[in-house]
Amino acid sequence: MAEKIVIIGSGPAGWTAAIYAARANLNPIVYEGEPSNIMIPGGQLMYTTEVENYPGFPAGIQGTEMMGLFRKQSQRFDTQIYTEDITSVDFSSHPFHLKSSENNEVEALTVIIATGARANWLNLPNEQRLAHSGGGVSACAICDGALPAYRDKVLVVVGGGDSAIEEGLYLTKFASKVIIVHRRDKLRASPIMQERAKANSKIEFKWNSIVIDVLGDKIISGVRSQNTFTKEESDLNCGGLFIAIGHTPNTSFLAGHVELDEKGFIITPKPWRTATSVEGVFAAGDVMDPYYKQAVTAAGTGCMAALEAERWLTHKGMV
Ligand code: NAP
Repeated sequence: MAEKIVIIGSGPAGWTAAIYAARANLNPIVYEGEPSNIMIPGGQLMYTTEVENYPGFPAGIQGTEMMGLFRKQSQRFDTQIYTEDITSVDFSSHPFHLKSSENNEVEALTVIIATGARANWLNLPNEQRLAHSGGGVSACAICDGALPAYRDKVLVVVGGGDSAIEEGLYLTKFASKVIIVHRRDKLRASPIMQERAKANSKIEFKWNSIVIDVLGDKIISGVRSQNTFTKEESDLNCGGLFIAIGHTPNTSFLAGHVELDEKGFIITPKPWRTATSVEGVFAAGDVMDPYYKQAVTAAGTGCMAALEAERWLTHKGMV
């Protein structure tokens, strides 16, 4: 028998959708994902320390704790949770057909996609080699920065957005110095983050520069950077490299099944709606939001998707 609602993803959007769907007696199933080197259940907030801008937590809350609470709240209303990825979908006939990483199959009357987004890399051969071997290259300072290997070292962060600044500030707790390498001479980060970074004596900036190679055999010893104007190259000695250059939506399993934009974000054609190009399939959170990308907006769209799915099921006479 087909499930009324299957939710793919377990960040704020997925859990909020589950809470709303469960309270509407839709018996939701959540595929929370398998832990991998790209993503873990709970999504990007699992890589965050203090969350200060989610309403309801006046003293702030740790990202991991917050996602634990979201998950627990969904379980209170009997959400079924599978720690598996959905690896393929067939939306060409109804009920929809989904397959999981454990080769399980599920049929669904409605699907909410809330798979979020993941970190981008520079894609340099030595960056990838050292990232995969645990040689001091990471795309998540919050996850890895506190490791003993990074203590009292010079650490390099690449990027100029809020993530780069947030990660740079975080790393100053452990590093002797943090050098933020940015390809322009102006940060994209919000003014308050810029002020915090510029006021921190442990942070230096290397402007108009890109990292073109990562040095070191088993462990990083430095990075080679290039000035974007003069093309002059120089080496920076460092004990760690953190890449913070944005994110890509987790939608590769959806190509050809639901309409995506040029960056891979799911298109929700109607304003203030989470319905996708496929009737009965809804999207919520960072996977459909290249603009706000906040936990609270993800939760909001998760709520919207569950309500929309419920109304769609009712309208179709399926519940
Ligand atoms: P972002 O805002 O897209 O910034 C990405 C940065 O990486 C940009 O500075 C970009 O340079 C640089 N970049 C991109 N590709 C690059 C490449 N190949 N080589 C070198 N540099 C590259 O991404 P984000 O910082 O992850 O932030 C995403 C969203 O989350 C934003 O809306 C942000 O406000 C939000 N956020 C908020 C907080 C907070 O409020 N505490 C924390 C983290 C993130 P250019 O500037 O030249 O394009």
